[in-house]
Amino acid sequence: MVGASWFYRDAADLLTIVQRLKLTPCPHCRVMGMLIRHGALQGIDETSGQIVLRARRVFCSNRNARTGCGRTFSLWLTDKIRRLKVNTSRLWKFLKLAIHGPLEVAIRALNSRLSDRTWQRLWRRFLLAQSRIRTELANRCPVPPPPETPSHRPEVLVLAHLLAAFPSVACPIAAFQHAARKFFCSRQMERRLLPLCLPGLRGTASDRQSPQQPGPLFLLPEELEQ
Ligand SMILES: [Zn+2]
Repeated sequence: MVGASWFYRDAADLLTIVQRLKLTPCPHCRVMGMLIRHGALQGIDETSGQIVLRARRVFCSNRNARTGCGRTFSLWLTDKIRRLKVNTSRLWKFLKLAIHGPLEVAIRALNSRLSDRTWQRLWRRFLLAQSRIRTELANRCPVPPPPETPSHRPEVLVLAHLLAAFPSVACPIAAFQHAARKFFCSRQMERRLLPLCLPGLRGTASDRQSPQQPGPLFLLPEELEQ
């Protein structure tokens, strides 16, 4: 299992997971009893600019005659997204703005320290993730009735389905990640789909150098962390 990741909401959630570690099979090698805590993962938060806790690391121990595989995986806070400074609350706010108007207006309204192109890439990452998100949501909640004001934009329906699946929560994206044990937007999925869909959205080296071109899907190193 590659890229294993679980999610926790708070200290109590984390404690529950940690207490069960010895009874939990390693997601990589499936051996039980070898998992131990292995430090923390920190990163810069987009809103505050401060370094914040993002995840806890778990090690499948192969030391001192233990029979683990020696690999690690992460227990992520539900409001964090791998390799992004943007947390789920900000992404949720951005998506709600973006489905109802021009992308540029949504980006301006965020008053973010990140570049416009970062948000444009996030938007494209969301577009590519729609079918996977809808599949996950369909396993948890029937498709809600269409909105009173018809929309030709499928992304409107995705957010409506997300809200229907996770009503009465502060951030439906964080709830989605916790329930599905998957990131809302996945770069792995993005890589798989890029050659297959959304013509014109595939990033190239020349895209990176031309501000006139639509933003590529690549996330530049300065926009990543971890
Ligand atoms: Zn293992």
